[in-house]
Amino acid sequence: MTRRRRLYEGKAKILFEGPEPGTIVQYFKDDATAFNNQKKGTITGKGVINNRISEYLMMRLAEIGIPTHFIRRLNMREQLVREVEIIPLEVVVRNVAAGSLATRFGIAEGTALPRSVVEFYYKNDGLNDPMVSEEHITAFGWASPQDIDDIMALALRVNDFLVGLFLGIGIKLIDFKIEFGRLYEEDMMRIVLADEISPDSCRLWDAKTNEKMDKDRFRRDMGKVEEAYQEVARRLGILLEGGPGDVRGPTAVQ
Ligand code: C5P
Repeated sequence: MTRRRRLYEGKAKILFEGPEPGTIVQYFKDDATAFNNQKKGTITGKGVINNRISEYLMMRLAEIGIPTHFIRRLNMREQLVREVEIIPLEVVVRNVAAGSLATRFGIAEGTALPRSVVEFYYKNDGLNDPMVSEEHITAFGWASPQDIDDIMALALRVNDFLVGLFLGIGIKLIDFKIEFGRLYEEDMMRIVLADEISPDSCRLWDAKTNEKMDKDRFRRDMGKVEEAYQEVARRLGILLEGGPGDVRGPTAVQ
């Protein structure tokens, strides 16, 4: 046994050096944080479920031509991904007013937005991930105007696809956060979807009851957090009733 080199430990994941050059192992923890680390806790089995959900969504997105960092799932808590240079932006796409947008503009949570809205936040915990404009992004050199065009187009395609996918299993995709990275292949650079897509990074509401099925249950002390994550996985057809240990292959529920 050799010890793997730990490259980075985040709030919900650990990144290890992968088995081949240019690869990374993403380990999903059960740790949960909110309000930039002010609230900390554990959601039992979350890492196992998010590993599965993110695998499933990245695979479906790859099928429609969205380039992603995902290679394959390795085990219950780990997936192999391509090493990318993370663009320091949190890209949020919103369909319905909730969370910080509802607060910022005084719009009631649950109000449908006139169209999908893309926002950029500078990924910096020390600064509380401040919202930034395209002007800031290009002036500070975080991404070029061409990169921003690519990111916007990809983010909207991801949104269109995921809205439909979730609606098919009785879930409204209210909003979500994604991250992108630069993948270098010889003398080419491609922007690819990176990080994860899971109930940690999405707002998911039951289409009939509007019940929250995401990390807001943890943020707002609503209880039944584990159950909500499991229900999302169950509806996606990637988890059997028995809980996080009881998994089968990713087949969508009809
Ligand atoms: O808090 P806010 O309303 O801005 O969050 C918008 C979306 O982005 C939510 O789905 C939330 O889960 C996600 N998000 C995230 N990580 C952050 C901030 C927001 O995944 N650091």
